[in-house]
Amino acid sequence: MKIALIAHDRKKDDLIQFVTAYQPILAKHTLYATGTTGQRVIDGTGLPVIRFQSGPLGGDQQIGAMIAKNEMDMVIFFRDPLTAQPHEPDVTALIRLCDVYGIPLATNMGTAEVLLKGLQEGFIDWRLLGERRG
Ligand code: PGA
Repeated sequence: MKIALIAHDRKKDDLIQFVTAYQPILAKHTLYATGTTGQRVIDGTGLPVIRFQSGPLGGDQQIGAMIAKNEMDMVIFFRDPLTAQPHEPDVTALIRLCDVYGIPLATNMGTAEVLLKGLQEGFIDWRLLGERRG
C-alpha cells in the first residue's frame, strides 16, 4: 500500500511521534511525503520515504497527482487548523481529491490511529483487491 505523510510545521513533532508509534505497521508499506515532513520522518525513524517537493512549493499537488492517477492508497495529513498556510488552495485541493477518489484520509492523530489499526487488521485491503475505481 502506498501511504502519503504530510504535516504542517506545528504538527511535525506529532507526526514523528505517530510514525514512531506505528513504525512496525508503516514499515510494511511504501511511504511518500512532502519534502520537509519526509526528511523529518527519515531522520526521526530511519524509515525509507520517497520525498516530493516541500508542501508550499508543490508537494501537496504532487501527492494529489498520484491520487488522480490511482497511485496513492492512503493519506495521513496532520493539518494545523490554527495557522494560515500560504498554500491553502493546495491543501484544499488535496483533500478534495481524496474525496473524489475515495482515498482514506486522516487529518488528525485520532483518525490516523483508526486508519492504521484498520490497516493492521486488514480492513483496508479491499483497496488492493481490484475493487477500486477503474
Ligand atoms: P513540508 O510540507 O513537509 O515540506 O513542510 C507540508 C505542507 O506544509 O504541506
